[in-house]
Amino acid sequence: MATVIQAYRFALDPTPRQRRALASHCGAARYAYNGGLELVTTRLSQRRAGEDVQVPWSLFELQRQWNLTKQQVAPWWAENSKEAYKSGLDGLARALKNWADSRAGRRKGRRVGFPNTKRKGRCRDACRFTTGAIKVLPDRTHVQLPRIGVLKTHESTRKLARRLEQGTARILAATISRTANRWFVSFTVEVQRNLPTGNRKTTVVGVDVGIRHLAVLSTGAVIPNPHALERSLRKLGHVNRELHRRRPQSRRRNLTRHRLARVHARAANLRRDALHNLTTTLATQHGAIVVEHLNLAGMLRNRRLARALSDAGLAELRRQLGYKTVWYGSRLVVADPFYPSSKTCSGCGWVKAKLTLAERTFTCEVCGRQLDRDLNAAHNLAKLAQHVARSGRETQNARGAGCKSQLAGRVAMKREAGSPYGHETGTAAPARDGCYHPPQTSGEGW
Ligand SMILES: [Zn+2]
Repeated sequence: MATVIQAYRFALDPTPRQRRALASHCGAARYAYNGGLELVTTRLSQRRAGEDVQVPWSLFELQRQWNLTKQQVAPWWAENSKEAYKSGLDGLARALKNWADSRAGRRKGRRVGFPNTKRKGRCRDACRFTTGAIKVLPDRTHVQLPRIGVLKTHESTRKLARRLEQGTARILAATISRTANRWFVSFTVEVQRNLPTGNRKTTVVGVDVGIRHLAVLSTGAVIPNPHALERSLRKLGHVNRELHRRRPQSRRRNLTRHRLARVHARAANLRRDALHNLTTTLATQHGAIVVEHLNLAGMLRNRRLARALSDAGLAELRRQLGYKTVWYGSRLVVADPFYPSSKTCSGCGWVKAKLTLAERTFTCEVCGRQLDRDLNAAHNLAKLAQHVARSGRETQNARGAGCKSQLAGRVAMKREAGSPYGHETGTAAPARDGCYHPPQTSGEGW
């Protein structure tokens, strides 16, 4: 038995009054965040001017300052749970720490900027509760939150309720959030799970995520996009054009804006669901799964819709495989960042100098091999996996004792792209000559 942090997310069916309460709590979190940020920036500039002032930096200090001033700046504070303000200030404390760490070189990845003011309608509406009456009611159709009260869930909570009744789960926190016009509650739960040490499968499969189809496997299987998703993507284009025809700040533009948000949310849901089905099948039916390395920097640079969708798909695939391979005892291998999986010929190893996204078929100039671009990439990834599987020691993955404590220590960051919720279990580095060298690092995040 190992302790795993998992999230259970349910759509809500709030009453109009509850909708207002949910929005009010998210607004309160944003207000506290902005207020705290203003105080921090003022104090920072005072200190730069040579004054001897304290800059509140930690959650504790920010909360203390909030409690001192809330009566003046927000006399309505009692309308919301105190958790709402704490949630906003917690977000601010984290943002400040990330900025300070990034500046001091204590943080990996891209440079983190100084926190920005959150704007209503522009930022994510969310608020986190960590104490108080957070319950999943035994009827499995209601949840209870502090101050907001009993909310009806849109879907059954049985999966979480069963675990809570069996005593194999403990709720750590609940986060309410809004996507388009729908409210959700996500429970951060500490779950006791049986983590197998292997699944006795020897098959290795390479996966390449695409846009035309959901994914292509090295077995030759092409997993198509669900029809509903294809329709949604076409609709996305229509509604986008409609939005651009609307006069700025008009009522109809606002209506279209909301409609577009709903279409986006639906497409994302359909895609996520299809990916969940795929990753569960992969993690339970194969011994090892190889995916491409995710170029996060490139992902943020390119704003084209197709590229963004494919990157988001890959990020989500990796995130899901990260924890599912741990749950089901398979192995996840991530190709080296510079491994040209799309540009390499899966037959002879020749590397094409440049391959644009528009080129759908790969044609080898050396051996004349011609096949679908994504299938070629998937074949290359599987080859990489076979090599890793043969290389002995490196096949040991992060499912050992250390991994469990690492998982337990992680707070679920379920929907953040690029957060290593699970972890890849080996990085394989191929050489230019077409033969593969053993992995150099293992169990490293990116
Ligand atoms: Zn070739």
